[in-house]
Amino acid sequence: MTHTHSTTAADRARERPLAGRVALVTGSTDGIGLATARALAGQGCTVMLNGLGDPDRIAALRTELSAASGVPVEHAAADLREEAQAQGLVPEVIARFGRLDILVNNAGTQHRGPIESHPPARWREVFALNLDAAFHTIRAALPGMRERGWGRLVNIASVYGLVGGVDRSSYVASKHALVGLTKAVALETAGQPITCNAVCPGDVSTRIFYRNAKLMAEREGISREEAQRRIAATNMPSGQVVSPEQIASLVAYLCSDAASEVRGAAWPMDGAWVAR
Ligand code: NAD
Repeated sequence: MTHTHSTTAADRARERPLAGRVALVTGSTDGIGLATARALAGQGCTVMLNGLGDPDRIAALRTELSAASGVPVEHAAADLREEAQAQGLVPEVIARFGRLDILVNNAGTQHRGPIESHPPARWREVFALNLDAAFHTIRAALPGMRERGWGRLVNIASVYGLVGGVDRSSYVASKHALVGLTKAVALETAGQPITCNAVCPGDVSTRIFYRNAKLMAEREGISREEAQRRIAATNMPSGQVVSPEQIASLVAYLCSDAASEVRGAAWPMDGAWVAR
């Protein structure tokens, strides 16, 4: 009887290794962030969502995630382009849940076009969201993590944090800087069980990917599947697009105890894009 009981508890701990932890995932009302929030909640982690969008849809997401995983899931509405709101987000999580163990900086934006016509205001906005927001959240999250002696910081960069690309100067520059910030923080935290890593996705099958494939299919009179394949093959030697769930699994791995000595990595998941 005792044996059966302890086996069940061990099984439960294996299935829900993040039980008792609290995570904040920025930009998690859609795409990679939402898949990540779902993966962490699925492992028993309390989750604070963040991101823009229709309040009714966000309320439905909270209910769905919470019901599926049996953990509290809430939403903080901070617009992370705004410095004061970026600075206030982690304190809001700590005020609500009493702690923050896992921080995933995922919210990001890009501007497409040549540098000569890149509006300076847009440049500042891209940096505010892709880089400054991560600075503000990490800065606010670290004291509590150091105090409790455990923490996971994961920054969603991009292959464009590792290699260049045409007509996306602010995106490439801000994602390279985010990889640099990741390394700097990994060194500052190396003496404690707090890790900081970056994930560098190639093309991911979020909504915009499917929208682009649909437009290409209509324009060129090909099937949607063929359009998806062609878009994926443009940059990815594998010819396969990465799913948000695959990125989420990598983030969950980086948050696990098994990954405690993965530090300062910029980990591509890109169908061999940057291997060339
Ligand atoms: P997405 O557009 O599907 O979702 C973006 C999320 O960020 C949404 O929840 C949105 O509400 C939120 N957001 C946008 N502006 C915000 C703001 N000012 N404040 C707070 N939240 C805000 O994005 P995605 O494609 O899942 O991308 C997520 C991250 O992954 C980004 O940092 C992006 O650069 C990176 N990335 C994406 C791809 C890809 O192919 N989709 C590839 C490499 C890297």
